[in-house]
Amino acid sequence: MINKILIANRGEIAVRIIKACREMGIATVAVYSEADRDSLHVQLADEAVLIGPPPATDSYLNMGRIVQAAQAAHSQAIHPGYGFLAENADFARLCEKEGIIFIGPNSNALELVGDKVRARQTMEKAGISIIPGMKSIPKSVAECEAAARTIGYPVIVKASAGGGGKGMRIVGEENDLKPAVEAGMREAKSAFGDESVYLEKYLEEPRHVEFQVLADNFGHMVHLFERECSIQRRHQKIVEETPSPALDDGLRAKMGEAAKKAMQAADYNNAGTVEFLLDRNSNFYFLEVNARLQVEHPVTELVTGVDLVRQQIRIASGEKLSMAQNDLRQRGHAIECRIYAEDPANNFLPSAGKILFVKEPKGPGVRHDGGIYSGWDVPIYYDPILAKLIVWAENRDLACRRMTSALDDYAIIGIHTTIGFLKDIINHPEFRAGRTNTGFIKRYFESWGEKGKDPGMLRPVLAAAAFDELNPAAHVQGAESRPSRKERFSPWQSLGKWRIGGI
Ligand code: ADP
Repeated sequence: MINKILIANRGEIAVRIIKACREMGIATVAVYSEADRDSLHVQLADEAVLIGPPPATDSYLNMGRIVQAAQAAHSQAIHPGYGFLAENADFARLCEKEGIIFIGPNSNALELVGDKVRARQTMEKAGISIIPGMKSIPKSVAECEAAARTIGYPVIVKASAGGGGKGMRIVGEENDLKPAVEAGMREAKSAFGDESVYLEKYLEEPRHVEFQVLADNFGHMVHLFERECSIQRRHQKIVEETPSPALDDGLRAKMGEAAKKAMQAADYNNAGTVEFLLDRNSNFYFLEVNARLQVEHPVTELVTGVDLVRQQIRIASGEKLSMAQNDLRQRGHAIECRIYAEDPANNFLPSAGKILFVKEPKGPGVRHDGGIYSGWDVPIYYDPILAKLIVWAENRDLACRRMTSALDDYAIIGIHTTIGFLKDIINHPEFRAGRTNTGFIKRYFESWGEKGKDPGMLRPVLAAAAFDELNPAAHVQGAESRPSRKERFSPWQSLGKWRIGGI
């Protein structure tokens, strides 16, 4: 059994992994950049090692330095979390070479699924439907033009090494193809060091439905059902839930089997996710494999009762899967909202700076996976995710109500966040009816910023008031009338005499 793990990550996911390790009696080593000296993961780990200056290329992406830190601390294993080195086959290979357990898939599987074109070829060979489109990297724009005519517009240009929506361009007609391919190549080159792009048919307003898979090193595999991740902004997920309102038991079983078949074809081990696009006629197409723990893994944990980080560690330690497909059930409904340090009223500009005060929601069925605390400075260097708010309830309607109530109770003061935006998504009638697809945000929330303007100039007042709240003696007087029930339960109520309407 592994008894010490280095966590090659930061923020909420590093905290999540540290907590799983603690429960398993495993010691933890955090790594951090100079910008993260005061970060929560550094405080919670048993040991912490400074690995470099703030830019990720000099710290969280510095493979040699991280392996060195693991060796110096006598960690048998490295958990990469998500992002940074999580899907880097060279890093997995370096760990393998140095005799350190990489908590993730083997480097060959990682390499295969990290290349979208190779993954498409493998899946097609395995009999899984792929999105219509090119099956090899084109050698010229003329080749793309010919292929696009066969596929039919609209098409989407994608980077083969892609991730995070980088290099993607939707093209509606032939005139726009050449500049889109060229721009996609430039973006892919700068993001991944590989300019290979290819074309797929652009499906109109599909749903994004993905399946969680666990596979041990002995050929045993289960799926832990689906996650519906159609609420996306610029092709990036912001709200996820399970079960998907779009699946019935028959379709669920079919997609679950296809997901397992995909992972078998890739010789995959450990935790991974097979992503599909689902069209209006319930046809599903392989999109890609995410070869790591997903940001949205908690919704699966709440509905299946399986701790995915614990399972990852057990599998990496060489244990056999302790569950069979028939042991797994979906119970109730879970929804996750990603809380970003961004200003939705200002084109989602990152909002770094000091969190003057944070009040996390609590209550039955409410889980908060966070990496923040009052007084912490959000650095500008990394992904702006602050935390994830996850709720569980007996059914979807109750889960939506619970999420609304939890978001109402959530206050972060000092920086802009997406909390208000998320609340409006959850309460949108189409979301409540389960009628979501990947075009949802564009269709209903394109001009949300106008209405949702954050009272930026009031922030210093709010912040002062929040500190005031921490010192109740400062505002025992001033409440002239008893607040309404809604006001009493609003975090703004905690601002006492400073309460300001219309927020
Ligand atoms: P990345 O790896 O960059 O995150 P993905 O291939 O996983 O990109 O796609 C991300 C999202 O982009 C999908 O969930 C979907 O919303 C959209 N998308 C990708 N490919 C297509 C397609 N062929 N048709 C329609 N939407 C697509």
